Amino acid sequence: MSIEFEGGGEERIISAGMHPEDENEGSLRPKYLREYIGQDKVKDNLRIFIEAAKNRKEALDHVLLYGPPGLGKTTLAGVIANEMGVNFRVTSGPAIEKPGDLAALLTSLDTGDILFIDEIHRLNRSAEEVLYPAMEDFALDIILGKGPSARSIRLDLKPFTLIGATTRAGQLTAPMRDRFGMLMRLELYTPKELLQIITRSAQILHVETDPEGAMEIARRCRGTPRIANRMLKRVRDFAQVQSDGIITRQVADHALQALEVDALGLDNIDRRMLHTIITTYGGGPVGVETLAATIGEEAVTIEDVYEPYLLQIGFLSRTPRGRCATEAAYRHLGLPFSGQQSFAF
Ligand code: ADP
Repeated sequence: MSIEFEGGGEERIISAGMHPEDENEGSLRPKYLREYIGQDKVKDNLRIFIEAAKNRKEALDHVLLYGPPGLGKTTLAGVIANEMGVNFRVTSGPAIEKPGDLAALLTSLDTGDILFIDEIHRLNRSAEEVLYPAMEDFALDIILGKGPSARSIRLDLKPFTLIGATTRAGQLTAPMRDRFGMLMRLELYTPKELLQIITRSAQILHVETDPEGAMEIARRCRGTPRIANRMLKRVRDFAQVQSDGIITRQVADHALQALEVDALGLDNIDRRMLHTIITTYGGGPVGVETLAATIGEEAVTIEDVYEPYLLQIGFLSRTPRGRCATEAAYRHLGLPFSGQQSFAF
């Protein structure tokens, strides 16, 4: 396999973050649990908690959803709101600049409403402190005045549900994490589940796929529905222009090759990362910061976007001293594996 180091960056087809072209992904989002594919354990638990809360006519307990980007956290939060039959308000950690922004949002919620905070690990400390009494006692503590004469008054809020989403549960403060009644981890999807997602999206988008064509995309979208949907749209373009509009295995393969996504869904940056671990660091272990600096990517991007899939397919292993490339990674890149990895201290 040839190793090419150009390209990449934000425009890559496989980056799991939002692209401008994903903006109309709303139409592809499942609305109810029965349409939400995969994540069976999470769904089974949610069904019970939702039914119990509805029977008691109470707000659902607060939920923290965590896992890599593009796996359906926002979608699932919306599904929960629909299943509960309540309003759904969406914001994100970085969008809340002042505690007052959050207070305004909280006071506007109706009984049982769901407030979704994406990237909740990026919420600033003072906003986080507003959330503690809100989550625990459905109350807002407002400080009036300054200095010794300052006093605090308590405002009651209507019972609501907070759903937080994060790619890094480890970065949440302990008091924040403890206030969630349910912590749910979303996993990468299997090719079979992705095939169902792609088939469903193709129907909604009126794209004709044959099962093998859809499976080719399912195998190469690194376990991530957002990437699956994006690939489907790009492959559709190739099918329309270069063939009769039907996504066959051949069309999908050709399109994904043109987009520099290999047979396992790796792109230039994955390959560059593995190649660097192998050739520059003797197969590892290498610390993620060092690796990030060597390949010119951010350490958080490596941890959130690239690593989960490379770990899942067994190309990378994580040790206390850093990341190591596995024999399977050597084989995939066509590099000789000596059986001995170097141990740099
Ligand atoms: P996250 O919030 O985890 O980054 P999103 O909820 O925005 O991910 O999901 C990205 C896209 O993937 C959605 O637009 C949706 O179409 C699709 N998707 C995610 N999860 C599922 C699922 N379980 N079933 C079907 N489609 C899904």
